[in-house]
Amino acid sequence: MKVHNSLYACWNQKLFRMCENCFKNEIDSFPTEESWIRFDLELTKKLGTQKIKHVQFKPDGVRDKDDGEYIYQCNSCHQKWKLKDPDYSFRGYFLKMKDQ
Ligand SMILES: [Zn+2]
Repeated sequence: MKVHNSLYACWNQKLFRMCENCFKNEIDSFPTEESWIRFDLELTKKLGTQKIKHVQFKPDGVRDKDDGEYIYQCNSCHQKWKLKDPDYSFRGYFLKMKDQ
């Protein structure tokens, strides 16, 4: 049973790396308005085609009540991603979540 489990984990990890529905890269920040718009368009497309879904909103309460992290999840490999919109001097991010 242990062997089966580790094989499954290995296969699962392969799937993570090969997933076509996820975003290819993590984004540390959106340096320009254009890079944000391009990302936002891609995200909207992936949501529209059910490749990923919005699963959670985590308010951080720092700036206002609409402010926080948007959590998305891939429908294929179930990888979760966290998104923070850029706002004024803060450039936002889009990163994989390590703790699932
Ligand atoms: Zn995926």
